[in-house]
Amino acid sequence: MPELPEVETIKLDLYKLIVNRKIVAVEVSLLKQIKNPLKYFLKNIVGVKIKQIKRRAKNLFLELDNGYFLVFHLKMTGQLIYRSKKGWLAGGGHSIRQDLKKLPNKYSHVIFTFENGARLFFNDMRQFGWVKLVDKKELEQMFKKIGPEPLDKGLTADKFMALLVKKKTAIKSLLMEQDFVAGVGNIYASEACFCAGIAPIRQANSLSPSEAKKLLLCLKKILRLAIEKKGTSVVDYVDAFGERGQMSRFLKVYGRVSQPCLKCGIPLKIMRQAQRTTVFCSHCQK
Ligand SMILES: [Zn+2]
Repeated sequence: MPELPEVETIKLDLYKLIVNRKIVAVEVSLLKQIKNPLKYFLKNIVGVKIKQIKRRAKNLFLELDNGYFLVFHLKMTGQLIYRSKKGWLAGGGHSIRQDLKKLPNKYSHVIFTFENGARLFFNDMRQFGWVKLVDKKELEQMFKKIGPEPLDKGLTADKFMALLVKKKTAIKSLLMEQDFVAGVGNIYASEACFCAGIAPIRQANSLSPSEAKKLLLCLKKILRLAIEKKGTSVVDYVDAFGERGQMSRFLKVYGRVSQPCLKCGIPLKIMRQAQRTTVFCSHCQK
């Protein structure tokens, strides 16, 4: 599943292309990908202009000029791909074998057409992704339970420490809980623990203030670098050109089990935590 940096990358790529565009047509070929009655969905989208594109946790959402919001979750295999009238592509998401330039393809379940002839394809091979039209109140409700954005300046070391002291969960698993912090998954939680020298199984409330501060700084630093590198493509994540994000070259533990630790040289270990695997260094992470 794409994490915060991957979704942010799609947002940044689509920003200049779809903001201020008017949606003139919507085709829906698989009803279960939209979480509204079709009639309601179409009535409030067709003829409407996009004011903004934003991200909250792993959700992308479009703010429409009629007061509604269109929220997308790409889940495992979703893609949002923009194709200009001339045929060039932008956006991205999960990679599929099929030539991405053949659009629509059999995975294109929702297609938006803009007044300039460009189209936005919501493709999803495994069909776990979704799009939902909501009003402001529903949007707030949807995001109410999501924790703070890790890159938000408001998330200071003191605030982070205050959140940690209430939690007994293992720190790496806690970082992946969306109601604790937003948008972090297995890759960046594993990397942040390694960067901070903290064992992934440490109980969250056992971290000292200086450890908590270091962990937060590491998490912010890694997420910023990942956005700069357009995300990680460990799991077939590509942009619309089929280009892979470059972040995988900068990962120090994720996907490197049995390889030498980049700090001390001993082989990295793997363990299972909350149904997910964690790669770590038993020497550098205490
Ligand atoms: Zn080490």
